[in-house]
Amino acid sequence: MSEKLTDLFGSDVFNEATMIERLPKKTYAALKRTLENGEDLDPAVADVVANAMKDWAVERGATHYTHWFQPLTGITAEKHDSFINPTGDGKVLLEFSGKELIKGEPDASSFPSGGLRATFEARGYTAWDCTSPAFLREDAAGVTLCIPTAFCSYTGEALDNKTPLLRSMEAISTQAVRVLKFFGHDDVKSVSASVGPEQEYFIVDREKYLKRDDLIFTGRTLFGAMPPKGQELEDHYFGSIKERIASYMKEINIELWKLGVSSKTQHNEVAPAQHELAPIYDSANVATDRNQLVMDTMRKVANRHGLACLLHEKPFAGVNGSGKHNNWSLVTNTGKNILDPGNTPHENVQFLLFLAAVVKAVDIHADLLRVSAANPGNDHRLGANEAPPAIISIFLGDQLQDVVTQLVENGEATNSKEGGKLRIGVTTLPSLPKDATDRNRTSPFAFTGNKFEFRMVASSASIASPNTILNAITADVLCEFADVLEKSSDVEVAIQDLIINALKEHKKVIFNGNGYAEEWIAEAAKRGLPNIKSMVESIPALVTDKAIKLFEKHKILSSVELHSRAEIMYESYAKAINIEARTAISMASVKFIPAVISYTKNLADSINAVKTAVADADVSVQTSLLKETSTLLVKAQAALKALIIATEKANAFEEATESAKYFRDVVVPAMSNLRAPIDALEVIVDKKLWPVPTYGDLLFEV
Ligand code: ADP
Ligand code: MG
Repeated sequence: MSEKLTDLFGSDVFNEATMIERLPKKTYAALKRTLENGEDLDPAVADVVANAMKDWAVERGATHYTHWFQPLTGITAEKHDSFINPTGDGKVLLEFSGKELIKGEPDASSFPSGGLRATFEARGYTAWDCTSPAFLREDAAGVTLCIPTAFCSYTGEALDNKTPLLRSMEAISTQAVRVLKFFGHDDVKSVSASVGPEQEYFIVDREKYLKRDDLIFTGRTLFGAMPPKGQELEDHYFGSIKERIASYMKEINIELWKLGVSSKTQHNEVAPAQHELAPIYDSANVATDRNQLVMDTMRKVANRHGLACLLHEKPFAGVNGSGKHNNWSLVTNTGKNILDPGNTPHENVQFLLFLAAVVKAVDIHADLLRVSAANPGNDHRLGANEAPPAIISIFLGDQLQDVVTQLVENGEATNSKEGGKLRIGVTTLPSLPKDATDRNRTSPFAFTGNKFEFRMVASSASIASPNTILNAITADVLCEFADVLEKSSDVEVAIQDLIINALKEHKKVIFNGNGYAEEWIAEAAKRGLPNIKSMVESIPALVTDKAIKLFEKHKILSSVELHSRAEIMYESYAKAINIEARTAISMASVKFIPAVISYTKNLADSINAVKTAVADADVSVQTSLLKETSTLLVKAQAALKALIIATEKANAFEEATESAKYFRDVVVPAMSNLRAPIDALEVIVDKKLWPVPTYGDLLFEV
């Protein structure tokens, strides 16, 4: 296997090596100019590329191609077309034109548009994203050539996650290049946001999974008492990997390697049955596409192994949930990582300016980062002492913090710049730490040596939105910095001022302590940091004047697009909770309550039978169990009725906002009220009668 790995890797990708091999030199050069400088692609070039792509795909068994896109459902969509073209003599040719490569037109009327598109103008267009390589996918339908595309409406509004991400990458590239000029980097033509997303997931047995409607319909358990053993022993974290899981992971790796995804590390996570996969980083755009492939592959391969992969943020109450650690940095086209502090004072200053920009951006736009991590699942996780709190703060680590403190304080001490003290103060800084000595796991946004790790990101969601926002907010501050520098007569002093002022004004967002501690919540409030507790509360951040100004200035999203996205988020929250509520209602009505009734009948029968056999026998155990069970049954039935009423009411609202709020405020608590008596009953009722696999069965019997 290991000898063949080099052949296997990327074998299903129309990557650079394949293009060099298969495209005429001139075509490849033209495509490269488009890739690197964003030049328009000549239709004649597109024809040649399309033909080479088709030949390559057909040699590998492909019969169809698809424009693979990422509508605002958070998952991927595709519409398959075959390469077949009739020749008129009853035969066919396999053809694929540049036009078909570049543009597709799926009927888009049933994808979320947040009111952007009425069904009578349902046209949607997909446009080839040549920066993300095409790949082959094999399944029961055969082999399909998948072409990553952006998806927009007839009027040009973005209807997907990729379009704003690509626009944000352009924005950060433009602004970072402007700033880098002041450090003598005239050779830097572009800067790319690099992203390495670590993916957490749970694996359970498929047969057990199929017995739980809640897992099937909602991705999480809506009921379930804690087993005698949870994660308290912490014996699962980095523990040895079970045979069945190991063979699952092995197959995932092979599938991903074929797709050119450099799945690199794998280990058990904190919770039982929880695992993590980390790839090597890519450009934000490619990393986003590949993370979709990772999630897709995890689900698909699980089926083949009689397993089910749960990507939900909180599949089990009482044990840790899953997230994605979104490692983010900025890399120049000359291969330099801008967030690497470097070894020389000169590099230090450049690093500090970018660091200051990120600190400022995160402080000003904490609300946007928060909404980028919001989904119904993350409401159970953020702030629940297992994941970062819902408060955005930055962890720098002791050494870097010390540098920042010095800067901020020296800045104050040497207001008079005549002495040049300030300048010297910065340029003679010691070589900055490459590795944060202390690995603080409680911070939502941590500097980890040469990148930032945004740890709030939802495990099941696309990473497009968090990265779009990271790019956008950083680009905006860099733009402001570049404006100042371009007007300045003493650039060195201007740079020092920018660093010190940004750090001084925004140091309140830096926090190196324990993010899980109660005191932090109070302290953060004192500092004026927002604590946005739920998805519904986070959504307005998308449409503040501040956000609209930011996104419009950098041409990432228009006001109309932002409003439509907010609307879609409200709708998707309401839909998700509605499905949860209906599933809970159904499980309680047709599974749990009937099971409990059977159990009470068994108890009653037992009491009668024992009494008949021995008139004065002691039946106090059965009697007390029967009373206890019946009391809980009454509670469950009342809670069930209340949930039914609440759900009906939540669905009656016209406005998505109102509906979402009602779901959060009334339906979610009503679901908890139903869960409580059912979970209490689970530990009383005869296990043979319990209609679904328990937490113990799911978490420990894989
Ligand atoms: P952790 O210790 O946080 O679990 P891992 O090694 O599992 O770290 O994951 C670190 C991730 O960060 C990997 O995906 C890695 O490729 C990514 N990474 C490393 N350097 C960069 C960078 N410059 N930009 C973006 N991501 C990076
Ligand atoms: Mg990590």
